[in-house]
Formats: sequence, structure tokens, C-alpha cells
Amino acid sequence: MPLDLILMGPPGAGKGTQAKILSQHLGIPHVASGDIFRDHLHRQTPLGQLARQYIDRGELVPDDVTIGMIRERLEQPDCRDGVILDGFPRTLPQARALDQMLSEMGRSLVAVLYIRVQEELLLRRLAGRWTCRTCGAVYHIELNPPRTPGQCDLDGGALYQREDDTEEVHRRRIQVYQEQTAPLVSFYQDQGLLVEIDGERPIQEVTTALLQAIEIRRMAHP
Ligand code: ADP
Ligand code: AMP
Repeated sequence: MPLDLILMGPPGAGKGTQAKILSQHLGIPHVASGDIFRDHLHRQTPLGQLARQYIDRGELVPDDVTIGMIRERLEQPDCRDGVILDGFPRTLPQARALDQMLSEMGRSLVAVLYIRVQEELLLRRLAGRWTCRTCGAVYHIELNPPRTPGQCDLDGGALYQREDDTEEVHRRRIQVYQEQTAPLVSFYQDQGLLVEIDGERPIQEVTTALLQAIEIRRMAHP
């Protein structure tokens, strides 16, 4: 049975960081809606141009556009054995659309891993975030620095600060999360899928907790 997982949590919780590590451990792709939008932005596609106006303000890209983009991604052959979703779904309509898409494929979610981190720490993490231009790996200037300043450990790519990594946009993104995404916690709790993980620990400890939770959920999954 495919291993379909969601990593949920506020901006800066560590979803991207953990998804990259889990993807290697579990051998399934990391599907991050934000990364796909940024790729379109970079290539200046019509979708990228549309998304930019929302991303720059910390608002959500409209549901129909986002859902269509993820649907296309999930239909790719590399998603056959499962996916680690990061940043999607972010609204109730997106969550319902995902259930529908998976059910059409004869699949269902194995777990929704909710990484919990308090707001002060989120702002500190986001302020020091540096991202690899080529592979999207994330670092933190103090908490998780690269071996060579400005350079990705994995592929030597140049590190940059995302344009939406400004304090004003961070505050708006956290607010949008509280308003539109936080309700998904009870949505998935009601389905018995939610596992809460303390995300305020070092990266490796969070990974261990996630892997344990996935193993338990996997055994319970039909
Ligand atoms: P998200 O994808 O949830 O927005 P990221 O994975 O991009 O979050 O992480 C945000 C920032 O916090 C990055 O700079 C990352 O290096 C750092 N970070 C992530 N997890 C931890 C952790 N457990 N401890 C310390 N720093 C972390
Ligand atoms: P992220 O990389 O997850 O921090 O997302 C960066 C930005 O991309 C967000 O602030 C939104 O503008 C947009 N975005 C990413 N995922 C979604 C989604 N599921 N729904 C709507 N907008 C999204």
C-alpha cells in the first residue's frame, strides 16, 4: 500500500527540513507546494506570475490553482509508492480535494504528522533561514549552518534568502496559517490520522520521533 503522508505545521516548524530527510529514509518523493510554486516563479511561467502576487504578500494562492498543480504532481510515476506532502493541504477545500484525489487512485492517507512549534521560535527560525538555489535544502545561520558559509552541503549550490523571508511577511504567513490551516488539525484528528510531534527539539530528535510515528501508523493502516 502506498505510504501517503502529510507534514503539517506553521511556517518555520521544520516541515521542509524533515521532509527532505524522511524522503531519503523512506524512498518516496517530497512534494512541497511552495517549492513547485518557486520553480514556476524562477522559470517565469504564467502559473509562477500568478502565484507571485500571493507569495510576496504571504497570502495563499487560490485553491483551484493549487489543487490542479498538486493533482498533476501526484499523477507522476515517481509518486506511485507514496508521497510526503509539505505545505499542502493548507485549507479545508484543499484537504477535501486531496481525499478525493487519493480515493480516485485507490489510496488513502497513512498519517498527518503535525509538527508543533511556538510562535517566538518560528520567527527566529524563519529570520535565519537560507535555502539552496539548486536543490532547495534549508539551513539556519545559527541553528543549522552549512559546513561552508553560503554553500549547500549536498550539492555546493549557492544559498539565498527567500524573498518572502521578511519579518512582515512572516507575521502575515503565521496569521494566515492560524486562520486557514490550523482548522485542519481537528479535521484530521476527527479522522484518527493526526500525530502531534514536538518540533522544538534538535532536527535529529524530531526525525526520530517522526519515523517512530510513521512506523506505528503504517502498521495500523489497512
Ligand atoms: P517549514 O518548511 O516548516 O517552513 P523549514 O524546514 O524551512 O520550515 O525550517 C525553517 C528554519 O528552521 C530553517 O532555517 C531550518 O534550518 C530551521 N530548523 C528546522 N528544524 C529545526 C530544528 N528542529 N531545530 C533548529 N532549527 C530548525
Ligand atoms: P512555503 O514554501 O510552504 O512556505 O510556501 C510559500 C508560499 O507559497 C505560501 O506563503 C503561499 O503563498 C504559497 N503556497 C504554498 N503552498 C500553498 C497551498 N497549499 N495553498 C496556497 N498557497 C500555497
